[in-house]
Amino acid sequence: ARKRKESMLAAHDLVAKLYHHLLLNTDYGAQARNYLLNRQMQLATIEEFGLGYSPDSWDFITQRLAKRGFSLSLMEEAGLLSQKDRNSRPFDRFRGRVMFPIHNSQGQVVAFGARTLGDDQPKYLNSPETPLFNKSHLLFNLHRARTQIRKQQEAVLFEGYVDVISAWQVGVHNGIASLGTSLTEQQARIIRRNTETVILCYDSDQAGIEAAFKGADLLVAAGCTVKVAQMPQGMDPDDYIQQYGGERFKQEILLNAASLTAYRLQVIRSRHTLNDETERMKFVHEALEEISRLPSAVERDHYLRQISEEFHLSLDAMKQEQKKIFKQQK
Ligand code: ATP
Ligand code: MN
Ligand code: MN
Ligand code: MN
Repeated sequence: ARKRKESMLAAHDLVAKLYHHLLLNTDYGAQARNYLLNRQMQLATIEEFGLGYSPDSWDFITQRLAKRGFSLSLMEEAGLLSQKDRNSRPFDRFRGRVMFPIHNSQGQVVAFGARTLGDDQPKYLNSPETPLFNKSHLLFNLHRARTQIRKQQEAVLFEGYVDVISAWQVGVHNGIASLGTSLTEQQARIIRRNTETVILCYDSDQAGIEAAFKGADLLVAAGCTVKVAQMPQGMDPDDYIQQYGGERFKQEILLNAASLTAYRLQVIRSRHTLNDETERMKFVHEALEEISRLPSAVERDHYLRQISEEFHLSLDAMKQEQKKIFKQQK
């Protein structure tokens, strides 16, 4: 089993280097080079992340792996090749895509994320689960970001590879991402081992908001303090950086990240039309339910005051109401 894993690792290392070389130095890679250039990715970034290009061929990688003496059925198990069925010929799994190497915590390449250059589906094709690659235990970029995460005692959790890379390029070196799936309990625990504070920086669309809520619950359960950074509607962090630049991203998005409670109150608020009195009272009630869940009296007091001032309600009445809700919640 050890031999098989070693062979899989060696193959990933070789293939990552090949894809990288093809992207930077050959005619095959020209279209992908332009694609990345158009997305404002600098050469130094492409090199740092070892980005590559898988040529649009059924057997490019297959041939090279065979020549180097790798067992093709093992390569299929490693996720580098595909097969129609058990007895048919293996072929290149990734074809005509920009390749994002995924590393384990020791910095070895164990999988790839692969993006189409056009609009075909799926947009991203990832390596399957293999003996090397357990999606629910790995975080993209953790091996590179770990030192900074520990030093700053803060991690920024993104949705996509490109967001991590784009942020890295403008000096945010503590960014990580889960791997095309929602955050898992194991990933939350791994994050907590490195830092207490996490800034969630997900896409500003319905999917991103829901993912942020779920991720936040897992992180809180793992003992993290969670903040939520908010992009303008419809944007993701990479879009924002492209449009407004890295400085503004750091100043206005990351530094302005809201506490989880403030974020939740804001989302609840956005569901009500506050100039309608009935709606306003509904909002206040839901807000009190949220505030009631806070373990700290100081924090509860802070948000109660905020709302009582904004809506000209008596703080005492709010406190009474909140206590009533707290009892019902038990
Ligand atoms: P881009 O900017 O290149 O369009 P993105 O990171 O903004 O990419 P999203 O659609 O926001 O892409 O998806 C975020 C992440 O979700 C991707 O980085 C990838 O890990 C994962 N993902 C997206 N689509 C798929 C898919 N079809 N299959 C598997 N994972 C996917
Ligand atoms: Mn998204
Ligand atoms: Mn996105
Ligand atoms: Mn994007």
